[in-house]
Amino acid sequence: MKASFLSFTGLLLALILFSGSIGLAQQTKTPPKVKNVILMIGDGMGLAQVHGTQLMSDHKLNILTIQNMGMMTTNSSDNEVTDSGAGGTAIATGYKTRNGMIGMKPDSTAVPSMLDLLAAKGMATGVVVSCAVTHATPASFIAKEVSRNNYEAIAADYLDSPVNVVIGGGIKHFDKRKDGKKLTQEMIEKGFSYYNEIPAKVTQGLKNVLILTDSVHPAKMQEGRGNMLPDGVAYALQILDQSPEGFFLMVEGSQIDWAGHANDSAYLLAEMHDFDRAVGEALKFAASSPETLVIVTADHETGGLTFPHAAIKGKSRFSFSTGDHTGVMVPVYASGSGATSFMGQYDNTDLIQKIMALKGLNFD
Ligand code: MG
Ligand code: ZN
Repeated sequence: MKASFLSFTGLLLALILFSGSIGLAQQTKTPPKVKNVILMIGDGMGLAQVHGTQLMSDHKLNILTIQNMGMMTTNSSDNEVTDSGAGGTAIATGYKTRNGMIGMKPDSTAVPSMLDLLAAKGMATGVVVSCAVTHATPASFIAKEVSRNNYEAIAADYLDSPVNVVIGGGIKHFDKRKDGKKLTQEMIEKGFSYYNEIPAKVTQGLKNVLILTDSVHPAKMQEGRGNMLPDGVAYALQILDQSPEGFFLMVEGSQIDWAGHANDSAYLLAEMHDFDRAVGEALKFAASSPETLVIVTADHETGGLTFPHAAIKGKSRFSFSTGDHTGVMVPVYASGSGATSFMGQYDNTDLIQKIMALKGLNFD
């Protein structure tokens, strides 16, 4: 009895020492250096949207060149199916909230976004989107509002945000307001350069820039938006890359969602290819700046897209099962420094924790 007890305590001691040495090994392992973070959100872009676009394309999508993948649940605090306000807020702040809310917990407490937190660490920050900058997804990184429909209030929140580069639509919400304020002028007074199109060249030393290309939303790709999104990404990256502490850039392919709501395959393909070109710009930048992490994901799926019919290459039959969002998990593609952290299955609120951990910041 006594001998076996002794050997048992010996085994226990050995186990404790062994697990201790593992703990030590984990502590001394240096995490990958992540200087820059580019987070790209295809609004409504589920796996079927990516796969279907590849089926209908004659070249490999940039998104599908990314090898590290995860899957993310997207439910909001009050619904199995999220809207883009709660979905964006979960990604941006790490808090589930009620559908329709922006940058707030369900009890209306405002919470900082990863853009706020990373800017406080000295990083330059930006948002580039193919909708109004006051729309739900970009707003989730900038604003704190009980309703995503408070567009004028969301525009005013840009004045309180640390953001340096803002590209999208939304002139109306800045300058044709019920309160008569001219917020673009206030942004200029705050130190921003303001343009209505993406300049051909970056002015030397430019740090803060607001580019509002349209009264509300930029046009559909099919109606002449051109290269606004990929060009906006390339332009923003040139400015943000000057930051010695690195940068955080959020890019949204905003109208993938709207094509899903409309159950419009041609609209969907055009918006997906545009977003994929924007991803190409980010990957090109990361290839020459290896301390850059590129994440491509979605806030939710839209349209319940599937391919139930036999299809030959290039003639896939898209079939939508709803005109609304769905609750299926969305893919997360991660490339560059720290990319392996995004493998596996997790929740949309975990994304900020993974990014903060790679930047050496605690987040709970
Ligand atoms: Mg959106
Ligand atoms: Zn939607």
